[in-house]
Amino acid sequence: MPETIHTFCRICEVLCGLEADIESGEVTALRPDPDHVATSGFACPKGLQQHRIYASPDRLLFPEKRDGAAWSRVSWDTATSEIGAKIKAIRNAHGPDAVAMYVGTAAGFSVLHPVFAQGFMTGLGSRSMYTTATQDCANKFAVAREMYGFPFTQPFPDLERTRCLVVTGANPVVSKWSFLQVPNPAKHLKAILGRGGRVFFIDPRRTESAKSAGEHVFIRPDTDVFFFLAFLHELLAQNGVDRARARALMTGFDDLADIASPWTPERCERVTRVPAQKLRDIVTAYRLASSSGGAALYCSTGVNMGSSGALAFWLQEAINAVSGNLDRKGGTLVGRGVIDFPAFGKKTGALLRDDRSRIGAFRSVNDAFPGGVLADEILTPGPRQVRAVIVTGGNPLITMPNAARLREAFSRLELLVTVDLFKNETGSLAHYVLPATSPIERPDLPFIFPLMLGLQVKPYLQATRRLLAPKGEVRDEPTIYLDLCKAAGAPLFGSRVAQRALELAKAYHSKRVARGSHIGTAHQEQPSLPQEALLSLLLRLTGQGAFKSLLAHEHGRLREPHQGGDFLGSRVLTPDGKVALAPQPLLDLARRTLEPAFEREIQNAKRLKLITKRAVTTHNSWTHNHPDFVAGDRGENHLYMHPEDAERAGLTSGDLADVTTDTATVRLPVRLLSDLQPGTVALPHGWGHQHAEGLSVAKKTRGVNVNLLAADGPTRIDPFSGMAHLTGFLVDVRKASGPKAPTWSGTP
Ligand code: SF4
Repeated sequence: MPETIHTFCRICEVLCGLEADIESGEVTALRPDPDHVATSGFACPKGLQQHRIYASPDRLLFPEKRDGAAWSRVSWDTATSEIGAKIKAIRNAHGPDAVAMYVGTAAGFSVLHPVFAQGFMTGLGSRSMYTTATQDCANKFAVAREMYGFPFTQPFPDLERTRCLVVTGANPVVSKWSFLQVPNPAKHLKAILGRGGRVFFIDPRRTESAKSAGEHVFIRPDTDVFFFLAFLHELLAQNGVDRARARALMTGFDDLADIASPWTPERCERVTRVPAQKLRDIVTAYRLASSSGGAALYCSTGVNMGSSGALAFWLQEAINAVSGNLDRKGGTLVGRGVIDFPAFGKKTGALLRDDRSRIGAFRSVNDAFPGGVLADEILTPGPRQVRAVIVTGGNPLITMPNAARLREAFSRLELLVTVDLFKNETGSLAHYVLPATSPIERPDLPFIFPLMLGLQVKPYLQATRRLLAPKGEVRDEPTIYLDLCKAAGAPLFGSRVAQRALELAKAYHSKRVARGSHIGTAHQEQPSLPQEALLSLLLRLTGQGAFKSLLAHEHGRLREPHQGGDFLGSRVLTPDGKVALAPQPLLDLARRTLEPAFEREIQNAKRLKLITKRAVTTHNSWTHNHPDFVAGDRGENHLYMHPEDAERAGLTSGDLADVTTDTATVRLPVRLLSDLQPGTVALPHGWGHQHAEGLSVAKKTRGVNVNLLAADGPTRIDPFSGMAHLTGFLVDVRKASGPKAPTWSGTP
């Protein structure tokens, strides 16, 4: 009989409660937990199949070292001491910033992984941190820092009460919500309609979400900033602002209104293609709901990854604020984590660095520099040139803009190390790959957003023990970074006391495990830090009791519900304690860029624009190694075209097309999709695994990496947030000529 353990998924922000059947040291089945306090029996195919992905024969089980094209297994002692020695030498010769780190999304779904990864960099004294944020959400962090005083202060729509929700550039039915933990997106959307509310999806594609509930309105890709400008202009015209509240609790109202003044709905329609009357109708619905149960604007990656993601998000937030919806039930709420993380950050300076990148002088966002200049930082000689990169829980050679140039840059590094479950595309180019535990092999608390920020529709806390002992010589990341710090002669967090204390804790815990006094003793376990004890310490410090007592709440423990009305005037961390509606850097950016961007849109009105797209079985770059998810024609991505655009280009379904930007050309088969707005093509992202030596299934897929098409470099990314422009960019599409055989092209 299998043992059933309750746990939660750590793949995406929903963190679905799961039941796991365990038999003979293996997870044999995962099911949604119907009794979970927040996710109530919701889960998706990725979460329910994840144990099969982790059990792949491709899984990295031992450290490996590359010599030319040959890989060999090495001991942890060898790998750690050689990497440590190399880092030490580079740091001594070129300074700490010569050693960079790239932290991938997977790291964010563990509590201890990102903390110890940062501790390693702090120990080295290196500022050269890069993360996935500048590919999908750094605009939100950079704007929040200006408006609310802290990057992680992220208001979210009160989905359970709102009477009007306007969603731009998001498809929650497939991708779930971001910066908000909500299960079953379709159910929540339908519930808004059920209580007489309105839902609008503003998107260049009639998405699965738009089909599930509410009204869909087409918008020309990458013109969201003009949609929000027209929205604000019209809201002011309809007198839909709460001026008294804005003057009492916010600053910059007049400057904000001034920015919106030239952008009438009619003028913006010329580029957004949202009819002026439709825009007015949406604003009216929003305004009426604002004066009854509350209304909210929400946007996600379709806006973030555009060329004006920072300006667009700023305007969205300003609209929610001046309309009286910020910090109000039914509008947008600002959650509370179990830790008051914004207050902690303000006190310690964490995530509030003001330094600038060497290339492009971009201000760091969340203490990290833009990924879009990493290739330049490696390729450009001079002080602070990056010579070593540690990639932890990520795959930048798939996810970063101009992936081909980054590949070239990575190939010139003196040291490239990946810490991952697999030898993926980036790992295949590394000098060392270090095997890490999978989510089901480690104890944990929920993702950093719920824990520290309360970005949950229904606040709760949960703990999970590990389901399985790690296989082979797999180690957890906190232990890996502790050992690397020792080998590099740079104590974790820059503290010899912390380093020594953690080394002693690791030695003690490892001895206990070896003596068989701990779980998982049938397997020869690797030395490791006592992760449950560290998580317990974190919980106790925040008054949440011990890890073990939280474990007893196997379906999660509810926390106090959001109240609203507890943010403005008390938790805003700007110098004057008021929401900054018109921060100077954003005003300057708007005044400098809006008119030229409008003119460019007019000039390029007849050209095609490319947007990205996602399937429910894919998650960024890493679920394509599961045979069931790439079977049949799911083993490649397609270029989706509106039938009218395809006909104009002489293409039909199944034809090969060349898609070209000034960065690259990729070739792939066409599919017709009338859900697209004419003038828009869509290309699913996360593909292009042909270089992944350690992904035997994914390597055989025929998909193309859309990010080969996106530009990198200091002049091609957002000057305010460092966001790469990864969706809504101009492309040319032509029928492919020449041999039919290649299903992908462009420099890999
Ligand atoms: S939606 Fe799917 S991937 Fe996301 S947490 Fe739930 S089961 Fe995991």
